[in-house]
Amino acid sequence: MVQVSEVKESGAGNQGSTRTAAHTHIKGLGLDAQGVAKPVEGGFVGQVEAREACGVVVDLIKVKKMSGKAILLAGGPSTGKTALALAISQELGPKVPFCPLVGSELYSVEVKKTEALMENFRRAIGLRIKETKEVYEGEVTELAPQAAENPLGGYGKTIAHVIVGLKSAKGTKTLRLDPTVYESIERENVSVGDVVYIEANTGAVKRVGRSDAYATEFDLEAEEYVPLPKGEVHKKKEIVQDVTLHDLDVANARPQGGQDVVSMMGQLLKPKKTEITEKLRHEVNRVVAKYIDQGVAELIPGVLFIDEVNMLDIEIFTYLNRALESSIAPVVVLASNRGLTTVRGTDDIVSPHGIPPDLVDRLLIVRTLPYSRDEIRTIIERRAAVENLKTDSEALDLLATMGSQTSLRYALQLLSPCGILAKTSGRSEITQADVNEAKLLFLDAKRSTQIVQSSGDFL
Ligand code: ATP
Repeated sequence: MVQVSEVKESGAGNQGSTRTAAHTHIKGLGLDAQGVAKPVEGGFVGQVEAREACGVVVDLIKVKKMSGKAILLAGGPSTGKTALALAISQELGPKVPFCPLVGSELYSVEVKKTEALMENFRRAIGLRIKETKEVYEGEVTELAPQAAENPLGGYGKTIAHVIVGLKSAKGTKTLRLDPTVYESIERENVSVGDVVYIEANTGAVKRVGRSDAYATEFDLEAEEYVPLPKGEVHKKKEIVQDVTLHDLDVANARPQGGQDVVSMMGQLLKPKKTEITEKLRHEVNRVVAKYIDQGVAELIPGVLFIDEVNMLDIEIFTYLNRALESSIAPVVVLASNRGLTTVRGTDDIVSPHGIPPDLVDRLLIVRTLPYSRDEIRTIIERRAAVENLKTDSEALDLLATMGSQTSLRYALQLLSPCGILAKTSGRSEITQADVNEAKLLFLDAKRSTQIVQSSGDFL
């Protein structure tokens, strides 16, 4: 019997979510049906032309007119380049992968830079697998592992099978499951009163939540109560799983990886890892292509965002050019706050943003502009609301002024410390005093440079 488990978030996903934590207020480009940006919409404030331009890019991607091309967001620090790239991925649909990285991250001692780039390409390509499975769905009324007879008697009894009682609004069933499923019962932490579904052909158990019948008995805040399934205990169910090509590479790089997509994914939680080779990626592509042909899976190209693109060297650019030509490339969004500069790895090629001319030719360039003080104030206000921080009007004014004098990011970063300072003083609202104190505790880039310079040598 095959052991199947649900895909949990991979390392890549975790990395992505920490990276995007500062952008949780961004919910899309905030454009109307005509592609016009309202000044404040979708979590976005201002940057109207860039948002509208990105809206056109989204349309081009949807009609498949972006292949072989990339986007460059050019503008000063914290003018919303990352936020725009994230919003593009959100506009492309739910669960579209967004893979952000900074140019310098591609250089490491352990991994070849072109390998690192390829890995990130594959993190930015999603695969949606839809399978119709026969499942038993219901509320667990009984959960009883049955011990096998031990011929020697005494200790060391093994499980022979597991009896699971399942109840739906229309009936009850008792199932006898193979002992190999016990692992998924334990992992899902299933107990009586949980609503689960059990795959008919594999026996894998997935916990959906607790039955609402138990909601009155236990007042557990974090629990999700689900109603008792209305239909038959046994039914067909469409199960949708979203993974990235990189998830599949990782799953298959493990020695015990199976041949089909589902068992490949089942390996995701096991930590042991061997190298992902070109050959292995080829093999994954082959299986994926087969699943796409069969209509089981669908490719979801996401967005690969590379900040500080001037950090890339000529070798990576050459590779990037080629990768853009691939039939399964994600949308590549580059970002830069540089002007004319020498392309890394060359002595004399001076080019805009340090990007070689042949790649510049393929770019759609969108400019981001600095924010006004009022826009900065509104962004901070929005962000404070998302972080559940109350700020009085003077504190917001002060933060906005600081943001326009230093950087928007600095002002946004001060919000959390301000919240803590307010709380320590027994207040639920951030005031100017908290902002001033936070400002003393944490320097902005300009002040820290001045201090270092005025005190002479850094060492
Ligand atoms: P850098 O070049 O330094 O990487 P960036 O241009 O990528 O900066 P972001 O990281 O997108 O800037 O912006 C900094 C912060 O400000 C983020 O939290 C972002 O979500 C927020 N932000 C930027 N622009 C806007 C905007 N127009 N509306 C709402 N929030 C914004």
